[in-house]
Amino acid sequence: MADFCENCSKHNDENFLRGKKLILSKELSLCEGCGQMKQVVIDIKDPNKGLTLMQRLDRAREAIDKAYEAENSQEMGRLAKLIQDLYFECYNLDDDDCKERHYAEYLKLMVMLHFEFIFDGGGDTEGTYEACAYEAYMAGFGKNRLTGELRQ
Ligand SMILES: [Zn+2]
Repeated sequence: MADFCENCSKHNDENFLRGKKLILSKELSLCEGCGQMKQVVIDIKDPNKGLTLMQRLDRAREAIDKAYEAENSQEMGRLAKLIQDLYFECYNLDDDDCKERHYAEYLKLMVMLHFEFIFDGGGDTEGTYEACAYEAYMAGFGKNRLTGELRQ
């Protein structure tokens, strides 16, 4: 296996490494990408390995809800990239009205809502709110803080 530092590995294979944890060597080695002595990647761990789709969706929801509350755009942008694959995975399921698809839709809408809210970019924030509440309900986790607020 060729040795690559963290930067070069990510540069080489961004899609594959998205959401994965790279384990680096303690000692410095010659990186075959940048030609510098760096800590190189010796292992790749997938934190989602062994989790069901629903468990992965739960994890994503936790992270997104947190970023939403903290109004953390940088984190939200990062999460938006991370949930892309999850989103398409849910959309490729045969049942187009399954909980997973509504769940994925909810996650996408939460990201949109965050950016509409932060930038006040003339989006239909209220409409997104409503859609978000609907998808949460259809995904089976019903009332969250957001939708609770909405229905009062
Ligand atoms: Zn390198």
